[in-house]
Amino acid sequence: MKIVRTVNELASITDTLKKDNRTIGFVPTMGYLHEGHTTLMDESKSYADILIASIFVNPLQFGPGEDFERYPRDEERDQKIAKQHSVDILFMPTVDDMYPQESTVNVDVKRRTDVLCGKSRPGHFNGVATVLTKLFHITKADFAFFGLKDAQQVAVVKGLIDDFNFSTKLIAVQTIRESDGLARSSRNVYLSDQERDEAVHLHKALRTGQQLIIDGAKNPVMIIEKVKKYIETHTNGQIDYVDLLSFPSLDKIDTVNQQVIIAVAVQFTKARLIDNIIISENGIVPKAIV
Ligand code: AMP
Repeated sequence: MKIVRTVNELASITDTLKKDNRTIGFVPTMGYLHEGHTTLMDESKSYADILIASIFVNPLQFGPGEDFERYPRDEERDQKIAKQHSVDILFMPTVDDMYPQESTVNVDVKRRTDVLCGKSRPGHFNGVATVLTKLFHITKADFAFFGLKDAQQVAVVKGLIDDFNFSTKLIAVQTIRESDGLARSSRNVYLSDQERDEAVHLHKALRTGQQLIIDGAKNPVMIIEKVKKYIETHTNGQIDYVDLLSFPSLDKIDTVNQQVIIAVAVQFTKARLIDNIIISENGIVPKAIV
């Protein structure tokens, strides 16, 4: 595994790879790697010859007062994990190298951002879309792998790739969970023991919503209320949102008559956790989501 720390070096390596007709898979991350990330890495192996993973805590996607400074970081451990998962090139740039001067252009995401995390994290998805635009160019990726744990991100990246005609193909991978159902997340380390026990109820609440749809419920307001109630009853976390929207367009709907996402965000003492489930109008998890 080669560790690359500068944009110039990576751009020159990917130039050569493309000249040699090698296909490139790319897994962008913010590090503190866990099984959610490594599943994306493993997936790349069946698509592309070369696997590039990046570790970059992107300041552009953090708002004031968010956890940019204290986002968990462990380079040594990450390098070991990346190597174990056959990463060919691990890209770990500095902030100064990615953003050597004040930006002249930022990507402005127009849709799919006024709901869910976009609503409570203004500017977040502009930061995501801007860094990914840079990373898609630098890596020259044929395939880019994203987890459905961050389903709104998947929806935004789909818009970015479609609207800007990137040749990179988006591959969305199902959420990887702990054995009790909690979605794997770098932020889970911030949960107290009691909160860790409560956090399992986010997934259970989503399953409750799914079951309502399987049983024939069509009214989003009623389903959202039941999911909220479940979370309120089973956790001491503060609900940031519970919503049910079309997916991937993320529009409000009056009735469940298409593929939908039920998504939740709950603030615990030191960690804000998100989770979601994407299902067809019959409540079944579809094989291909985007
Ligand atoms: P992050 O480092 O949190 O920015 O995540 C990097 C990538 O890993 C994103 O595409 C995430 O959606 C994905 N990811 C994070 N956690 C999970 C998970 N539990 N299951 C699947 N993908 C995940």
